[in-house]
Amino acid sequence: MKVFSVFGPTRSGKTATIEKIIGELKRRGKRVGSVKNIHFEKFCLDDEGTNTWRHKAAGSEMVVARGLAETDVLVPRQLGIDRILGFFNHEYDYVIVEGVADTILPKVLCAGNLEDLESRLNDLVFMISGCISNQLTEYKGIPVLNGVTAVEKLVDLIEDQVSEVMPFVYGLEQCRGCGSDCRGFVVRTLKKERVREDCVYVKNIVSVMIGQRELKIDSLFERKLKSIIEDFVFRLDSYNPNDEIQITIRKQ
Ligand code: SF4
Repeated sequence: MKVFSVFGPTRSGKTATIEKIIGELKRRGKRVGSVKNIHFEKFCLDDEGTNTWRHKAAGSEMVVARGLAETDVLVPRQLGIDRILGFFNHEYDYVIVEGVADTILPKVLCAGNLEDLESRLNDLVFMISGCISNQLTEYKGIPVLNGVTAVEKLVDLIEDQVSEVMPFVYGLEQCRGCGSDCRGFVVRTLKKERVREDCVYVKNIVSVMIGQRELKIDSLFERKLKSIIEDFVFRLDSYNPNDEIQITIRKQ
C-alpha cells in the first residue's frame, strides 16, 4: 500500500487535484482510498438525534452505520493517521491523505500563489500542483504539474516517487539504524539516495512459506507476527535470543 499526502492552503486546488489523481489511478487499474483532514472544530457527519448519534451518546466508541449503498464508520474522537491507515488493511494500492502537513509522507504541495509556495515548501515535497501550475513548470528544481492538463505526467511521477508505506507511519520509535531519522530517510528516498529496504525495519526478517511458495507479507504484519511469536518463545527456558525460530504447521 503506497501512501502520500496532498497539502496546501484553502482554495489552492487540493481537492480538484486529488479528484484527477484518483480518476487517473483508477484508470490504471489501481485500488485507491483517501483520507480528508477537516479542520472545523465542531465537524460531525452525524445529526443529533439519529439512531447512530444515540449509540455514540450512550457511549459506543465506534459505530458502524451499515446502509444498502454505503457503510460509514463513526468514531467520536480524532484518530491518528497511523490508526486510520490501519482501516485500509493493505487492501489498497494507494491511499491519498489530504490536508495533513505534519506526517512523514512524500508530499504534493498545492499552492495558489508564490507566497503559499514559499511558506509551505519543505524537503518532503516531490511535486507542486494546484492553481500555481498555471504560472510555473518548475520551482527550485521541483516539477510543477497541472492536475487537469497534465494528469498522466503527474501520476507517472507519483508512481515513480511514492514507495510502499514505511513502518514508522505506524508509530515506530526512530532508531537511526539507517544513519538518520525517519524524516531524513524519506527525504533521501525521494532523492533516490536510499531505497525502502535500507530501513532496518523493512529488511525481511520474517518469512512465511506455504508449501514451497513464500508468502508476500508487509512490514506491519511482519512486525506483529514477530512480536506474537517472540512473546511466546521468550518464556521458554531453552530459548536463546540469537536462535532463528522456525514454525511449521503440517497438514493432518
Ligand atoms: S532505520 Fe527505519 S525506522 Fe530506523 S530511523 Fe531509519 S527509517 Fe526510521
